[in-house]
Amino acid sequence: MKDANFLKERNARHLWHPMAHPADMQANPPDIIVGGEGVEITDVDGHRTVDAVGGLWNVNLGYSCAPVKEAIARQLDRLPYYSIFRGTTNDNVIVLAEMLKAFFAPDGMERAFYTSGGSDSVEVALRLARQYHKLRGEAGRVKYLSLKKGYHGTHTLGASVNGNANFRTQYEPLMPGCFHVPAPYPYRNPFNETDPERLAGLVLAAIEDEIRFQDPSTIATFIMEPVLGAGGVIPPHESFMPGVRELCTKYGLLLIADEVITAFGRTGDWSGSRHWGVQPDLMTTAKAITNGYFPFGAVMISGGVAEVFESDGSGKGAIGSGYTYSGHPVGAAAAIATLKETERLNVKDNAAARGDQLFAGLRALQEKYAVIGDVRGGHGLMLALELVSDRAAKAPIDKKTIGTVQRATYEAGAMIRVSGNNIILSPPLVLSEADAATILGALDAG
Ligand code: PLP
Repeated sequence: MKDANFLKERNARHLWHPMAHPADMQANPPDIIVGGEGVEITDVDGHRTVDAVGGLWNVNLGYSCAPVKEAIARQLDRLPYYSIFRGTTNDNVIVLAEMLKAFFAPDGMERAFYTSGGSDSVEVALRLARQYHKLRGEAGRVKYLSLKKGYHGTHTLGASVNGNANFRTQYEPLMPGCFHVPAPYPYRNPFNETDPERLAGLVLAAIEDEIRFQDPSTIATFIMEPVLGAGGVIPPHESFMPGVRELCTKYGLLLIADEVITAFGRTGDWSGSRHWGVQPDLMTTAKAITNGYFPFGAVMISGGVAEVFESDGSGKGAIGSGYTYSGHPVGAAAAIATLKETERLNVKDNAAARGDQLFAGLRALQEKYAVIGDVRGGHGLMLALELVSDRAAKAPIDKKTIGTVQRATYEAGAMIRVSGNNIILSPPLVLSEADAATILGALDAG
C-alpha cells in the first residue's frame, strides 16, 4: 500500500466526496480507512477505533463476517453476473425472495423487486405507486406526501420527497406535487409540544388536514421511515406509524415504508414496520441486506399491490423500471449469507440490549454536559445526541465545535457520525457490552 502522506495528498487532489464540500476536503482531510475487523476499523496511520457508524448503517454483522465473504467468493467463481431482465433469472434471487418474505418483511409482503441500493429502491417504490393507481383507473393520484426531516436518497424522485433542505435546494426545481408535513420530533416542532404521544396526534391531524387540502384523489402515496434516521434519529411515539397506516387506508394512499436503515434488526425487530406492528404496501430495503459487502437492494410489494399488476390484461402492468445490477447474482449470494447469519445470531435482540445500554449511557452524559440538548434512542441501535450552545434557547452548536468533538472522540477510540448539530450512532448489531462501553467512554473523553 502507498504511504499515508502520498494517499492523503492525492485524495485531496483527485477526489470529490459524496455529501461533502470539495473545499472542505482540503481543510479537513478525511480519515483513510484501510482495514476492518470485528466492529473495529483501522486508518492508514494504524489508529484503531470502534466503528459506531457501522459503515453507513449497513455493516450490521461487522467486518469479519466469513460466511458472507465466502459466499461472494464462491459466487464469483460460479456465475459472476447475469441479468434478471425479462427472459432470465438466477437461482439466488429466487431463494432470497423466499427468505425476505418468510422472515424479515412484515406479513403480507408477497413479491420482491431487486435494485442496486437504497436510492434505487425508493425510486422504484415511488414509480410503482403511481403505476398502481393508473392501473386501477385513478391516474389523477400523482402527488407524494412525506415527512420533513425524512431522508429518501438522492435520485430526483427521492430528493423530491426528501425533507431536508440541504439535499434539495441546490437541485431545485425537483418533482412537482411533493408535499412535506412536520416530523413527530418532540425536541423541535411547530406545535411546541414535547409529549411524544400528544405530538403524534397533532402530526397525524396535520397529515389528514394536508390530505384533505390536496384532495385525496390526487395523492399517490405517503412515504416514511419507521424511525427517521439520517435526519437525526427521531423515533416517533408508537401510535404514529399505525396512525399513518390508518390515514393511508382511509384515503386510498399507498404507504411506503422506507426501511433502507431500519430493516434487518436495527430497531430491535426484523423491520421497522414490524417494530410498530404495521403492514405497509411497499417496503424499501438496501444497506444491511448484504452487510454492506455488495451494493444491493430490494423493494417488497404487498399481495394487494401485486394483485393489481398481475391481473392487468392491458399490458400497462409491465414494469418499466430496473437496473443492470438488479438481482446481481453475487449481491444476492451475499444477501442470502447475510440474512442467514442475521437470523442465526438473532442480532435484533442484541441490537435492543446494546441500544438500551447506549441510551442509558448517553442520558448519563447529558446529566454531565450542558452541551447535550437532547438524547434520542430507545429503539435498538439507532441513537443520537443533539448538541446545543445554550440548552434553554436550544441554539444548535456550531459546525466547528461539533467537528472538534468528533475528532476528539475518534482519537479516544470511537468513529461517530455528525449530521448538522447531531451526533449519530448506528454501530454494528453484533456490538458487545464492552464495545458499547468503549463508545460511551470515547464520547465522554470527546
Ligand atoms: N432511504 C433511506 C431511509 C436512507 O437512509 C438512505 C441512505 O441513507 C437511502 C434511502 C438511500 O440509500 P443509498 O444511499 O443506498 O442510495
